[in-house]
Amino acid sequence: MRRSRAPSIAPGTFFVVQSWADCITNMPGFNLRQALVVAPGFIDLHAHGQSIPADRMQAFDGVTTTLDLEAGVLPVASWYRRQATKGRVLNYGASANWAFARIGAMTGSNAESSLEGFGNAMRDRRWVENVASDTEVAGILPRCRRAGIDCGVSTGGGA
Ligand SMILES: [Zn+2]
Repeated sequence: MRRSRAPSIAPGTFFVVQSWADCITNMPGFNLRQALVVAPGFIDLHAHGQSIPADRMQAFDGVTTTLDLEAGVLPVASWYRRQATKGRVLNYGASANWAFARIGAMTGSNAESSLEGFGNAMRDRRWVENVASDTEVAGILPRCRRAGIDCGVSTGGGA
C-alpha cells in the first residue's frame, strides 16, 4: 500500500484557482519532485472534438467530461449509440443541434448533423436566408424536443 504524501486540506478550505499551476504549487507542503496531485476532473462544455484522439488530448489537461453544447448533434440518440460503440475514453454528451432541426424543417432534409451534412445544407439556403414560417417553426420545435428526449442535455444553436 502506498502512503499518501499529499498535503492535507482542512475542511472548509477554499482555493480560488487563478491558474492550475499556481494553485497546486502554492499549496503548503507541495514538492514538485514528489508531486502526486489529486484533482477533480474538469468538464469541457465546448468540446467539438468528440473522438478518442480528442479524448486522449483532453485527458492530459485533466478533462474527464467533454460536452458539445455549442453546436450539438441531431439526431441525438444515434450519436450516443455511435459514441458507445467507439469506446470513448472520457465521459461525453451533446446538446440537440437546433440548426439541423431548422434545416430539416425548412428544406425537408433528413441529414444527420455532420460537417458534410452542414456543407450540403448550404446548397439550399432557405434555412439561412428565410424567416421560418409558423408551419416551419412548428416543425423545428418538435425536432429539438424529440432530440432532447433522446438524451441531449440542451439545445445548441451556434457553430
Ligand atoms: Zn465552438
